[in-house]
Amino acid sequence: MVGYCPICGKPVYFAERKRSLGRDYHPLCLKCQICRRQLTAGQHAEHDEKPYCTYCYLKMCGPRGRHTHSHTYI
Ligand SMILES: [Zn+2]
Ligand SMILES: [Zn+2]
Repeated sequence: MVGYCPICGKPVYFAERKRSLGRDYHPLCLKCQICRRQLTAGQHAEHDEKPYCTYCYLKMCGPRGRHTHSHTYI
């Protein structure tokens, strides 16, 4: 069974796949979408089906890991 890499959209074959958080990635595709740092399978954050390092994830989503809505600012 061939899965598709959520980053580049190409098939990921068993021998080369890197499984993390329930998805199969190419080893070179499993990197933070912001800083391009290589990520360790199972030890990174995920947002909108894309992998991020925990540092960029916290910067993007805030310490609670959620988007805050504008009404909270008023
Ligand atoms: Zn890929
Ligand atoms: Zn990052």
